[in-house]
Amino acid sequence: MATPPLRRVTGMNDVLPEKIQVWQHIEATARRLLAAYGYEEFRAPVVEHTELFHRSIGEFTDIVEKEMYSFVDIGGDRLTLRPEATAGLVRAVITNGMLRGARHKVWCTGPMFRHEKNQEGRYRQFHQVDVEAFGFAGPDVDAELIALSARLWRELKVDRVRLEINSLGTPEARRAYRERLVAYFRAHESSLDADSRRRLEGNALRILDSKNPDMRALIDAAPLLTEHLDAESEAHFAALRAALDGLGVPYLVNPRLVRGLDYYTRTVFEWTTDALGAQNAICAGGRYDGLIEQLGGEATPAIGFAFGIERVVLLLERLGRTPAPAVPDVYVVIQGARAEREALALAERLRDALPGRRIVANLGGGNFKAQFRRADRSGAPLALILGDDELARGVAALKPLRQESGQTECMLTDLAAGIEAALTAARG
Ligand code: ATP
Ligand code: MG
Repeated sequence: MATPPLRRVTGMNDVLPEKIQVWQHIEATARRLLAAYGYEEFRAPVVEHTELFHRSIGEFTDIVEKEMYSFVDIGGDRLTLRPEATAGLVRAVITNGMLRGARHKVWCTGPMFRHEKNQEGRYRQFHQVDVEAFGFAGPDVDAELIALSARLWRELKVDRVRLEINSLGTPEARRAYRERLVAYFRAHESSLDADSRRRLEGNALRILDSKNPDMRALIDAAPLLTEHLDAESEAHFAALRAALDGLGVPYLVNPRLVRGLDYYTRTVFEWTTDALGAQNAICAGGRYDGLIEQLGGEATPAIGFAFGIERVVLLLERLGRTPAPAVPDVYVVIQGARAEREALALAERLRDALPGRRIVANLGGGNFKAQFRRADRSGAPLALILGDDELARGVAALKPLRQESGQTECMLTDLAAGIEAALTAARG
C-alpha cells in the first residue's frame, strides 16, 4: 500500500532559503533599532500554562474563545502554544523576580500560534517581534515606542503605512463606559450576531472589535469611549499627542480602536497599510498598567507592541523593497588530482584572509564545464580556477563570470589581494 504523501500543517509555513533574505533584513533592522533605543533581548518559552492566557488576554476574546493551541501534556499539565508574547514576558519578569521597583525594556521574537482561518497574511504559526517596557508610567515612553516603530518603517523604506491611536482610559472609566455600551447594544439586541450576543454578557467592549461587516453600522453609531475618559487618562493622551506632534510622527485618533485583548489601559495604537488587502494590520500595541498586578506581580505600569514579520515581508515584497539575494563572492573551480587535494585547505586560508567574503568551493568533483555551470548558477561574480598546471607554477586563475573580460593569473602568495582587486573590477 502506498504511503500517503507528507503534508505540512495548514497555516504553518516553511520559510525557504530563497525567501530568507527579506526575513533577515527585517530582523536585523529591528534588532539594530531596538539596541539603539536601549532594549534588551529576552528569550521566553513558546509554551505556557493555558491559564496564563485566560487570565491575561481575557475570556471573551477571539484568541481565548477559539484560536488557542491548547493541549494536556503527558504529565497532565494544561499548556498552550503562545498566541502572543506579552503574557509570557509578564509571567517571566514576575517568576524571575525582576520587578521590585526595577524597570526593564525588553524585546523578543519568535513564532506565535493561533488557530485562525488560513489566508494570505493570516497564518496559524506566524512570527512577531514583540517589544515591552516595564515600570514606565508614560506618556514619554508611549511616544518613544511609537517613534521607534515609525523609524522601523522608515529604515525598511516602507511607506503606505498609517498610525492610529486611541485611549481606553482606566479600568474604572471603562467600566462606566461598558455600562453605557451594554445599554446601547441591549436596545439593539436583535441586530447582534451570535458572537456579539455572547459578548454582551461577558465583555461588551469586545463587540466593538467585531470584524463582521453586518455589525459595522451598529458599531459605528455606538457611544464613544473617548467621551468618557477620566481626567488623568485624558491628560496622558493629550501629552502623548503633543509628544508625537513634537516628534513629527503623523497619526490619526481613532476613537473606535479598542484592540482584541482585554488587558489594555489608556494608550493603544495600530499601524495599518493599504497595500495588503484585508490583512492590513502590521503592528499593534498599547499600555497595560493593570496586567502585572492582576497576574500576581507588584503593581507596575507597562506598555508594548508587536509587529507581524510575515505581513511586513509581504509589504516589502508588494512595495519592491526586498534586499538583493545573497550570492557568493568567489566560486572555486577545481581541476586535477593535486588541486583536489589542496583546494579545501586553500579555501580555508582564503576565508582566514578575507573575513566576511563568501567563498564557495566546488564540492563533489565534475568536469570543467559542469563546475563552471555551477559557478554561474551560484551568482558569484568571480571564479577562482585551481588547476594542477597553475599549482605547479605557484599561481591560480581568476575569471570574472558576469562580464566579458578575460582570465588573469595571480600568485598564490598574493591571492587574497588579487581576489579583492578582481572583485572590485568585476563589480565595476
Ligand atoms: P488582526 O486584526 O489582523 O487579526 P490582531 O489584532 O489579532 O491582528 P495582534 O494580536 O495585535 O493582531 O498582533 C500584532 C501583529 O501580529 C498584527 O498586527 C499582525 O501583523 C500580526 N498577526 C496577528 N495575527 C496574525 C496571523 N494569524 N498571521 C500573521 N500575522 C498575524
Ligand atoms: Mg486577530
